Amino acid sequence: MSLTQSTVNQSVQIIKLSYPPVNGLGLALRRSIFKDVQEAIANPLVKAIVLTGANSVFSGGADIKEFGKSESSTEPLLTTLIDFLERSSKPVIAAIQGACMGGGFELAMGCHYRVAHADAIFALPEIKLGLLPGAGGTQKLPRVIGLERALNFMTQGDSVKAAQMSEWGMVDELFTKGLDQFTEFAEQFAKEVVAQNKPLARIRDLSVDYPNYQAYLDFAKNTVKASAPNYPAPVALIECVLAACSQPYLEGMKVEREHFLELMTTPQSKAMRYAFTAERACSKIPDITEDTQLKEIKKLGVIGSGTMGGGIAMNFLNAGIPVIMLDTTQESLDRGVATIRKNYENTLAKGKLSKDQYDKRMASLSTTLSFEDLKDVDMVVEAVFEEMQVKESVFKKLDAVLKPGAILATNTSTLDVDVIASFTKRPQDVIGTHFFSPANVMKLLEVVRGKKTSREVLATVMKLGKKIKKTAVVSGVCDGFIGNRMLEHYIRMSVQLVEQGATPQQVDQALEKWGMVMGPFRMSDLAGNDIGWAIRKRRYVEKPSVIYSKLADAICEAGRYGQKTGKGWYRYEAGQRKAIPDPQVQTIIEQFRADHNVQAVKISEQEIIERTIYALINEGARILEEGIALRASDIDMVYLTGYGFPLFRGGPMKYADQIGLFNVAAVMGSLLAQTKDSFWSPAPLILKAIEEGKSLT
Ligand code: NAD
Repeated sequence: MSLTQSTVNQSVQIIKLSYPPVNGLGLALRRSIFKDVQEAIANPLVKAIVLTGANSVFSGGADIKEFGKSESSTEPLLTTLIDFLERSSKPVIAAIQGACMGGGFELAMGCHYRVAHADAIFALPEIKLGLLPGAGGTQKLPRVIGLERALNFMTQGDSVKAAQMSEWGMVDELFTKGLDQFTEFAEQFAKEVVAQNKPLARIRDLSVDYPNYQAYLDFAKNTVKASAPNYPAPVALIECVLAACSQPYLEGMKVEREHFLELMTTPQSKAMRYAFTAERACSKIPDITEDTQLKEIKKLGVIGSGTMGGGIAMNFLNAGIPVIMLDTTQESLDRGVATIRKNYENTLAKGKLSKDQYDKRMASLSTTLSFEDLKDVDMVVEAVFEEMQVKESVFKKLDAVLKPGAILATNTSTLDVDVIASFTKRPQDVIGTHFFSPANVMKLLEVVRGKKTSREVLATVMKLGKKIKKTAVVSGVCDGFIGNRMLEHYIRMSVQLVEQGATPQQVDQALEKWGMVMGPFRMSDLAGNDIGWAIRKRRYVEKPSVIYSKLADAICEAGRYGQKTGKGWYRYEAGQRKAIPDPQVQTIIEQFRADHNVQAVKISEQEIIERTIYALINEGARILEEGIALRASDIDMVYLTGYGFPLFRGGPMKYADQIGLFNVAAVMGSLLAQTKDSFWSPAPLILKAIEEGKSLT
């Protein structure tokens, strides 16, 4: 089956890539393009060839479904196809509309000329998958747009608009009229190329003009090594660009190929490609289908204008959904609105928001003290105090005033969503939306599906999650949901390590070196140590068998709640966030050890990593087993987007698979023997997977 639509119009052959959704350059499409170009060259009536997209995109790049499969290495490879275009005896013109990304952009750079619609966007985003452009991009881009720009563009992987590419010399002509006239414009351009007998211009024949490239690239290499030590792709990219400057094109292509193939096999790139698919998998829910009815959310109510309420409201205002915010006092509302305003003003000052957008967002925000005013909202998100009685009173009032079919969402972090739903006569419309602080910044949204939550409500909230640009992950109801339930054991193990001989900074440094954005003690200080303390007090009663070191309580008893009190596991200078090791903490720790007859032992970095990260793995496996998470990759997305887990390790579940479950279980077995903490019995799911030779992911 051909994946192109090819027509000859007078002397121009128009080849339209037609492989929805993004004309991914899989084998079948590469074959179709090759065949069409071959025919065009053989046809004496054809004088020029236009390559364009049939839909509103040029090409989104490689077909990721092909990654790792034999098709990806079957001829014609993209490099072969590009070579073929470059050698064509008739001019080939890329007519670019919509996305022109990755391999798609490299294909366009293989054409003799490029025209673009003003709406087109260009990117070489391979770096985000731990790779680099592998079909000549690293060699061609600097030859056209210059060394510095090309390097920035490829190391960031972000997209730029057609006008920018045109200014940089990549686009020969920019078309600003309607998309429906674009093919005709490209055809006309092709005819002019022929009429004016323009040369078959090849980017590969240019050279990079940058006198002191070696010094510049050395500097760039040192910079990326320091800022992203765990990521090999940026350094490899710089090596390729160096080759583009210092060697003939074909030699440079060899360097690029070598690096590309090497990167494909790195655990970092494997983890990043895994995360890319994992993110897409989150929205797939077994019992939700294409025809599940969605509700329209045109207006939102937010209950509680505190830390979370304000941030939550901003998400919806940013997405163009008007918000009405309710609180118990005018003072609280004023404070909430002032915080939102200040946040937007900061963004405005940074130039990341226009005055018009700012005005629109603030105008879409209203406030009230009366539940009656929520009559016309399509959904509410509740973010009041974390107390069941308060939630009960709020949900009863909401049930009384909201229109039928409205969605009632709670932002609770620890309370039972099913119990909250039971306060209403419409539990099918109740759901958890667990935002992370700061709610306007953090990517993660745990969507908590109650026992009675309807499919329509779940599907609507998942879609809404996308609209407000969150990574929405479904969680079942349990204490702490996916993320915090796992975190509790991670923190528990961290405190045990300090009780037994480590220092908070030693634990933090080991985990940060391993890749965590923030070590557990710095994180606890940021979140507030009193929050964990309150949860532990509940646990001591509910789950007396769980082994907690009471050292964390001793820290709280000393009034060390974290950044908000200027001291926690560290101390903080007024108004600053830098964690400074504090001798007073060491005194508390030593006193605690003395009181509890603990002989401090030396704790290695490896032990720190194993006891904390394997705690995440084991609890994650239990969560999976209980069906709280739909799939292992959902757990990984929670950790990658909400807890600063290093992307290059793919998430705790992926990491477990990478080290091998047998090895993970063996270490857990030793920890069980050593600590007598039954937590370390490997989750049955892990044992089953080992027996069946399977992985978690
Ligand atoms: P907060 O104390 O900053 O704000 C709560 C707001 O709710 C206050 O403005 C208060 O006046 C208002 N409120 C209290 N009772 C009310 C009522 N009956 N009707 C209307 N408004 C009422 O608390 P927060 O940190 O924003 O937390 C809110 C919710 O979000 C809690 O359930 C909490 O567990 C959850 N949560 C918090 C975080 C976090 O990091 N702070 C993260 C995730 C989830």
